[in-house]
Amino acid sequence: NQLEFNPAELLPAERITLFADVILPLPLPKLYTYRVPFEMNDEVMVGVRVIVQFGAKKVLSCIVAAVHQNPPHNYQAKYILEVIDEKPVVTNEQLRIFNWIAEYYMCTIGEVINAALPSALKLSSESRIQLHPQFNPEESTYPFSAHEEKILFALQQNAALTFTEVGNLLQITHFHKIIKSLIQKQAIIIFEEIAEKYTPKIVKRLKLSPHFIHEAELLEELMAQLATKPKQLDVVMYYLQQVPVYQNVHLNEKGLDKSAVINSPHLSPSAVNSLIRKGILEQFDVIVSRFPTDDSQKNMPSALSGHQVTARDEILSLFTQKDIVLLHGITGSGKTEVYIDLIKKALEGGGQVLYLLPEIALTAQIVIRLMKVFGNRLGVYHSKFSDNERAEVWNGILSGRFSVVVGVRSAIFLPFHNLSLIIVDEEHESSYKQYEPSPRYNAREVALMLATYHRAKTLLGSATPSVETYYNCRNGKWGLVTMNQRFGEAGLPDIELIDTRRESLKKNMFSHFSQQLLGAIEEKLKKQEQVILFQNRRGYAPYISCHDCAWIPKCQNCAVSLSYHKFSNELRCHYCGYHEKMPSDCPACGSTGLKTVGFGTEKIEDDLKYLLPDANVQRMDLDTTKSKNAYSQIISDFEANKTNVLVGTQMVTKGLDFENVSLVGIINADSIINYPDFRAHERAYQLFVQVSGRAGRKGKKGTVMIQTANPNQPIFQKIIDNDYLALYEHEINERHKYFFPPFVRVIRVTVKHLEEKISQAAAVELAKLLTDGLGQNHVLGPEVPYIFKIRNLFLNEIHIKLDREHTSLKSAKLFISEVISQISLKKEYKGLRVVADVDPM
Ligand code: ADP
Ligand code: ZN
Ligand code: ZN
Repeated sequence: NQLEFNPAELLPAERITLFADVILPLPLPKLYTYRVPFEMNDEVMVGVRVIVQFGAKKVLSCIVAAVHQNPPHNYQAKYILEVIDEKPVVTNEQLRIFNWIAEYYMCTIGEVINAALPSALKLSSESRIQLHPQFNPEESTYPFSAHEEKILFALQQNAALTFTEVGNLLQITHFHKIIKSLIQKQAIIIFEEIAEKYTPKIVKRLKLSPHFIHEAELLEELMAQLATKPKQLDVVMYYLQQVPVYQNVHLNEKGLDKSAVINSPHLSPSAVNSLIRKGILEQFDVIVSRFPTDDSQKNMPSALSGHQVTARDEILSLFTQKDIVLLHGITGSGKTEVYIDLIKKALEGGGQVLYLLPEIALTAQIVIRLMKVFGNRLGVYHSKFSDNERAEVWNGILSGRFSVVVGVRSAIFLPFHNLSLIIVDEEHESSYKQYEPSPRYNAREVALMLATYHRAKTLLGSATPSVETYYNCRNGKWGLVTMNQRFGEAGLPDIELIDTRRESLKKNMFSHFSQQLLGAIEEKLKKQEQVILFQNRRGYAPYISCHDCAWIPKCQNCAVSLSYHKFSNELRCHYCGYHEKMPSDCPACGSTGLKTVGFGTEKIEDDLKYLLPDANVQRMDLDTTKSKNAYSQIISDFEANKTNVLVGTQMVTKGLDFENVSLVGIINADSIINYPDFRAHERAYQLFVQVSGRAGRKGKKGTVMIQTANPNQPIFQKIIDNDYLALYEHEINERHKYFFPPFVRVIRVTVKHLEEKISQAAAVELAKLLTDGLGQNHVLGPEVPYIFKIRNLFLNEIHIKLDREHTSLKSAKLFISEVISQISLKKEYKGLRVVADVDPM
């Protein structure tokens, strides 16, 4: 309902009454219509940010979704207060995809916008101070303290300052009292200002005053004048060496980086400042990129092998008939090089490319590989980047600076306008799904829709495709290309099962390591080869228990036991973040016999350091990768052979490419297989094959050792044989038999309340309404989940299965939303939260 017309053809622009539908970044069910003040008629356009009044508050960073001439029916439109952007920051394609996400994942468009916009593009209101208009320091009768004097002086230099600026400038932390006193003395006032949070990175540069440039005599005069100031003369001489002003006036305009001049060991900073004061050097600001702009590392991509060429050509030929193709290539088959080749082609055709990865841990290596080929056209987008960096990538895509973007799931929100190829690497990964908060989207599914809107092609890649994806290939909907061989000489690793129960009877277990595994690690280390060890849990132990009274510490907010983290000597809840110091004795009986039960990555690392004191062990899990560069550091240390053994959670299992790893150990396979979920087998297969795939990628034969108490479990044979098809056939039959995706669509509705009884009663009523509307066989539950309380909210779950009988998924979802809001509004259920998760994983 966006009207296309040229206002100039109708009336002078300033006299047409326009309205704008505005997306507020709040969980509101619909858009609101605002009136455009005449003077903003030319500025309000789809995709710009505006500020509006909503109820009692001003809402910043709203997005204009449509401009038209229709006043709202049931309310008086308020005026738009301010337009922020001269050009749209959100594209039409984005608005379409945001709407689709809101509808498909049953959330509001405001929630989508909130997740999509980097926080640096969301405005903030900030408090600033300035001198009181009537304040005159000479006439003031008040005595001012030293701190107050400083603030007043700073304000005389700057028109206005934020609180943080005052703090930083004067290095005062508790200045609120001082500010209050200054207000009382009528020296300053506070006001609110709307601030752009995105601040460009600025560097100071120096140039020689233009006065000296054109006339040689003046320059000589200057030098003579500085004869008595040798330090200043040094600076000028240095400048003239770096910037030969007579040959190139333009270079003088660019000047020199001030910090480089000041930090030069032979030059005096105070001499630099004296020259600036005298007007001989001029200081100016330049906006620079936060990302490397140097393109010199670029070189040619590797030549593809015969298998890779065949695969690429098959993909290209399938793309002429189908929009989606799966590249099913075993680990190490060289899929990444095929992607690179296809990206090159897409760029040559003038399109943009999005390359999605499931985890930040993977970006480091891939970015290095892509940077070599695409140089500074490559943008990278993930949450370890600062707010300003993310906003720079966003703006860089709008401006056309970046044409290839590598990112994790949130990269699907970026402002592309001309995508021609999307690659979803490791498409089977569940980390493409966002759980909390809303929108609970799966980036793979969004990518497919995004590609449709852009008329782009999508290439899904995996060594272990999801059952859903493979099903679509099998029935001919999507294209399928296979690569069955590893690149070069490398073959797939040998896989050995180790029966931990038997080994433990034979007294062959050392802590959690079998003698075989330990021996194999030692042997690899002797040969200077590397080892990856996988354990599913982080922390030291999943729980502790009292030896005497069996007391187990539980989270005070959640129905889970607390995990022990040795490094911080804390008990931690992995659900809500609650933590406490590890007690020295049992709070229940006073016994000192507290013992840890089970084990996580921290204990594996600890035990290994004890068992093999010479090994250099490094750990990669959520706890060791909090800082910005932690991933790259751990990975580059391992690449450089500074570490011998890398212990980690699922982060170490996928996508990583290390030449020298010849052994992979899975410490405990059983907890993964026994997980209560219809995807448990598929997941276990994917995880074991992926982690095995890290071994022996270049030449050397790799070995994988899987420790299990149940070696007869049939899934192991499929893994040993690398028999994906057997897994697929088994799984698809089960899914068909028991009504699971891809044969039905699942929506999980979770009911949450502080009181157990209310949660249950509301869930029962909700389930009944849903059953009445959707039919008996389509609604399961309510059921109390295994972890029945999280963050003090008691949970009840209802699973809805929709199939072909439900001709319109859309209308079923509308019905579900309606019933949910009906229940949520009931007085007796006050405080109820109901969450719908579409395609839960
Ligand atoms: P996959 O993504 O399928 O697991 P990769 O693309 O990581 O496999 O390739 C495995 C290894 O083989 C990598 O170290 C990669 O650099 C190397 N490789 C793949 N293709 C080529 C090629 N055409 N030329 C040189 N090296 C290659
Ligand atoms: Zn006790
Ligand atoms: Zn908790």
